[in-house]
Amino acid sequence: MFSETPDVWVLLPSTITTSSFSPFMPQLIDLSHTVEDGMITYKGVPAPIICDYLSREASKQIYGPDTSFHIGKIELVANTGTYLDSPFHRYADGKDLSELPLESIAQLPGICVNAQNKSAIDADSFSGLELKGKAVLIRTDWAKHWRTDQYFENFPYLTAAAAQHLKAAGATLVGIDSYNIDSTVTGRRPVHSILLGAEIPIVEHMCNLEQLGEQSFAFHAVPIKIKQFGTFPVRAYAVLN
Ligand SMILES: [Zn+2]
Repeated sequence: MFSETPDVWVLLPSTITTSSFSPFMPQLIDLSHTVEDGMITYKGVPAPIICDYLSREASKQIYGPDTSFHIGKIELVANTGTYLDSPFHRYADGKDLSELPLESIAQLPGICVNAQNKSAIDADSFSGLELKGKAVLIRTDWAKHWRTDQYFENFPYLTAAAAQHLKAAGATLVGIDSYNIDSTVTGRRPVHSILLGAEIPIVEHMCNLEQLGEQSFAFHAVPIKIKQFGTFPVRAYAVLN
């Protein structure tokens, strides 16, 4: 659709649904799941508990009848929703969340790699692609099973050879819209070991990668800055170029 501005005609992307959209704002694609009370991300890991610390009603006792606030409280396992793993998640001496350079998690040139209908995603999925310095997002479409029992079983993952390829190719960050970037058939986690060992952060449980298509974009997935903590939820998103 077209929108008239004082001097120019601007082509608005057809997927925009927000009424607050400005034609001068680049298009943003949200690549994150919503976190809510009781929601299970990882089988066997407890769901977040989201409640009031100070309820709106109780706050009126402090501020007055016409002035209320809400202060929430959340009990959250680090691996909840769409989250980022720093090297500390795997290695005691690896960089923790507070030590991650912003250059490794924000404003990264991105590439979305199609790997739908594959179970074990091998190095050949990346052959011929220029990955140096990029956030490499692997689209499996597994997010369609989010919050169903299917999500936890037979999910797509990367092979160790794929991780070696991504490391050798100089990827800055790797993301996937699946349950785990590693197979969980055994306790070994070669993809986590290789990527985090090379200080390449990992983002798991992404969604909406199908909206990126072939477009060029910048990727952002910034957790809060916590010492001695390896993983945390992020609002992962792409800015289309
Ligand atoms: Zn992980």
